[in-house]
Amino acid sequence: MHLRLTDEQKMVQQTIRKFVEKELMPLENEVLRREREGKPSLPEGKLQELRLKAKEAGFWGINTPEEYGGADLGQMMMALVYMEVSKTFVPFTFGGSADNILYYGNEEQKKKYLLPTINGEKKSCFAMTEPGAGSDTTNIKMTAVKDGNEWVLNGEKTFITGGNEADFVMAIAITDKELHQKTRGREGVTCFIVDRDMGWKSEFIHTMGEWGPAGLVFDNVRVPEENILGELHKGYNLGLEWIGFARWVVGARAVGTAERLLQMAIDYAKERETFGKPIAERQAIQWMIADSAVDIEAARWLVLNAAWTLDQGEDNRHYASMAKLYGANMGNRVVDKVMQIHGGMGYTRELPIERWYREARLWRIYDGTDEIQRLIISRNLLKGHVKLGI
Ligand SMILES: Cc1cc2nc3c(=O)[nH]c(=O)nc-3n(C[C@H](O)[C@H](O)[C@H](O)COP(=O)(O)OP(=O)(O)OC[C@H]3O[C@@H](n4cnc5c(N)ncnc54)[C@H](O)[C@@H]3O)c2cc1C
Repeated sequence: MHLRLTDEQKMVQQTIRKFVEKELMPLENEVLRREREGKPSLPEGKLQELRLKAKEAGFWGINTPEEYGGADLGQMMMALVYMEVSKTFVPFTFGGSADNILYYGNEEQKKKYLLPTINGEKKSCFAMTEPGAGSDTTNIKMTAVKDGNEWVLNGEKTFITGGNEADFVMAIAITDKELHQKTRGREGVTCFIVDRDMGWKSEFIHTMGEWGPAGLVFDNVRVPEENILGELHKGYNLGLEWIGFARWVVGARAVGTAERLLQMAIDYAKERETFGKPIAERQAIQWMIADSAVDIEAARWLVLNAAWTLDQGEDNRHYASMAKLYGANMGNRVVDKVMQIHGGMGYTRELPIERWYREARLWRIYDGTDEIQRLIISRNLLKGHVKLGI
């Protein structure tokens, strides 16, 4: 057992840290200004420029297999990279990657969708959630009915990240009602790759945070048979795999963000004086700093454990749920304390704390709510799928 980073991991961490400090953090004021003017956080051209700069620094396709031109850094490295990138709210994502489930495509689909997504020529989104089916993914109502060589899709999806910008969506629809009922939603659904120009419409959803997902409407959208992703009637597992991928990453993001926030609070507490001394000398403030530091550290190790487990080729779902549940809640506790330490200034829009406060609230909701993570963790223990301890 070795509880320290290897030299290689430290090198990657330092390189990405420098990139974040040099290229991303200086853009924070511009991002805040643009968002307050109701504009996208950064223009697409600027984001592309940043992706190419990251590529020069060796960060391109960080989770993409080498045969597709990626760096395939592994999950531990990814965790470290996400923690660093999340120290800023500049909405940067690395180039050269694609959704995990697109790799299940056949050769033709890989040429048409996977490779252009990796190369940044096409944007994708994934749609499982519907107005009547969020946590209960087995309750979807969207249907796909076969007509000759095509499937006709009807229904609605909601809260789809990237749905306003995507060129195509991977949408889950019921293809066999009887099988769907008999298997309680686990079979009889299929994942379709649907180009925007096949006719689905998207509508921006305004949220508390700074990026808006989309509602999607499918009204007799005709999709060719060859656009089925994976196997017919077996789309449910693809859906779970897509959702599962990002789960522990939410925890990693929370760790990075909380670390930056806590550092802001430490710096502020040393400067801000009340009743003749810095507030850093008050026990009330010291305890908030100490509790936050312990909270961050606990979340970090849960995240690293989830990532490490996956790197060993083991099933990490139990640990991913723990990392997501604890990380998301830790992030909310820390941002709240950091706002408290900043007093009135923390509540203003002069500082980015209120922005992070709004963003952090989402972490407890998407990719499976707190309650769903608890349900998974307790079910694994009660059914004996996982034992306590290591
Ligand atoms: C900004 C944003 C982006 C998103 N991006 C995507 C995306 O790209 N693709 C996609 O498919 N979806 C996406 N989602 C959907 C997201 O995954 C769902 O919102 C989430 O799973 C919760 O579903 P719901 O909103 O329907 O809440 P519900 O399922 O209706 O839950 C309501 C409340 O009941 C609780 N609850 C539900 N069931 C139980 C239970 N069995 N036991 C105890 N409590 C329970 C929940 O925890 C919650 O507190 C996104 C959501 C948001 C807000």
